[in-house]
Amino acid sequence: MVAPTRPDPTAPPIRVNLYSDTHSRPTVEMRAAMMEADVGDEQMGLDPTVNSLCDRVAAMMGKEAAMFLPSGTMCNEIAILVHCRPGDDVLAHESSHIIGAEGGAPAALAGVRIQPLTGPRGMFELATVREALYSRGRYTAPQTLLCVEQTSNVGGGAVWPLAQLQDVAELSHAAGLATHMDGARLLNATEASGVGVGVMCAAWDSVWLDFTKGLGAPMGAVLAGDSAFIDAAWRWKQRLGGAMRQAGFAAAACQYALDHNVRRLKDDHRRAARLADGLAEVPGLQVTPPETNLVYCDVSQLRCDAATFVAHALNEGLALSVMGRTLVRAGVYLNISDQDIELAVQIISRIVERNPFSRLT
Ligand SMILES: *Cc1c(COP(=O)(O)O)cnc(C)c1O
Repeated sequence: MVAPTRPDPTAPPIRVNLYSDTHSRPTVEMRAAMMEADVGDEQMGLDPTVNSLCDRVAAMMGKEAAMFLPSGTMCNEIAILVHCRPGDDVLAHESSHIIGAEGGAPAALAGVRIQPLTGPRGMFELATVREALYSRGRYTAPQTLLCVEQTSNVGGGAVWPLAQLQDVAELSHAAGLATHMDGARLLNATEASGVGVGVMCAAWDSVWLDFTKGLGAPMGAVLAGDSAFIDAAWRWKQRLGGAMRQAGFAAAACQYALDHNVRRLKDDHRRAARLADGLAEVPGLQVTPPETNLVYCDVSQLRCDAATFVAHALNEGLALSVMGRTLVRAGVYLNISDQDIELAVQIISRIVERNPFSRLT
């Protein structure tokens, strides 16, 4: 992902920011909830707001225990560190966040190798997992973990169907692997599919949920699993410097998000669908119909690369992100209104009409 850069310093300010749902900002009400938080020393297990958030998320997910962490990346890395030993192999989709966006941490911190699996929209089939499993022996690395992303980010916010999730988890368990779900946008998946959180997570040994995406909190993620997993995870939290002090201020924002920002995720999904419909009418754009809050659009037919397209949009006050050579992403979240969506469609239509693109770089 490339950070937004402004090619023209005199460009107008950003009018619509669809760069990412991570650009969601805490609302006034969320800030008020943070101010009122009851807090203590999180590292010692004495922060009541953190403790009740962890209990609540563990119960939602049907897990024995949970832990509060500063980021989703730390949830993924701690899970890998607990499930695996150096030299192990981890199975994950080739587009997954642990491969592409965590600074090489699985190798650098856990000493594991990732076997990238292929499949459309960030998901893989049961047969693909079956083919990737090898017989255990002296020559092979132990395969100890299978990871999925729900929803799949680079897969366009696609939702893993429950049966497919259960199938790949069951096969992994039968082969002696643990299962880990990167639930950065888990609640987008449950809202879109109508599947309950507990059911969605049932076959997964560890699962986490990010509060900084569509849920609109300023920081924080919760990692859940069985008690032995969370006990082991606490040592890594301490080692990595992820144990905090009065973290209840952050946890209060997450509690607020669970109370107020989950059911409204369907508004984001509706707006993403409207954005996709609007863009689908613009000649030359190939839009993937969104399942959740992320809209992916290929600009290759404009004889343009994604970075050029995004730079032109930014000059018109619309922030988007570059997700591939010709792939552009728009993320919808709680600070984005219906009018913002219409304005985004207008800006993009105007740019394409003017057709400033002359070459495919
Ligand atoms: C954002 C994201 C992460 C990392 O979460 P942070 O809280 O930004 O560290 C991991 N996986 C996926 C799929 C994500 O979209």
